[in-house]
Amino acid sequence: MNKIALTGMKFFAHHGFYAEETKMGAYFILDVSVEVDFSKAGSNDQLADTVNYENIYEICAEIMSVPAKLLEHVVSQIEVKLTKYYPSIQGVEIVLQKLHPPLGGSVQASQVSIANQYGKKCSRCQRSFLCHNNDSCWCHEYDISEPIAARLKKDYKDCLCAACLSEFG
Ligand SMILES: [Zn+2]
Ligand SMILES: [Zn+2]
Repeated sequence: MNKIALTGMKFFAHHGFYAEETKMGAYFILDVSVEVDFSKAGSNDQLADTVNYENIYEICAEIMSVPAKLLEHVVSQIEVKLTKYYPSIQGVEIVLQKLHPPLGGSVQASQVSIANQYGKKCSRCQRSFLCHNNDSCWCHEYDISEPIAARLKKDYKDCLCAACLSEFG
């Protein structure tokens, strides 16, 4: 497992809870670190086999450009987009800081962060797989009809691998 990261990405953006904050905008610093298995890219030097810095930056810039009330929402949007774009991502860490938040005193930054690991063992067949908590999995109930999802939730503590899911889909 390897980590690649972009640190100190600086954006001027309009996230904030109050109308005045969103109107004025503020500077934000974003750090994104992605866990991938790039043993393959390491040996054949192909960028396509691993996660691409430029794409990560584009995904971050795109989401930062859409004003949100909560920084929590921004980091979770970045996570969703990254895991959709790169189904092989094994974990992420995202730290978003808002510089000089208007709190009535001298504060360097407010900060929100998430760190998630996606590696799981299938509760049915014990195979290792990645669950990104998105629509590839019944823990999000997209691919599978409601009665079947309810039965799976009763029978298995956690979500199942794609191979097992395809038997129910
Ligand atoms: Zn399975
Ligand atoms: Zn799942």
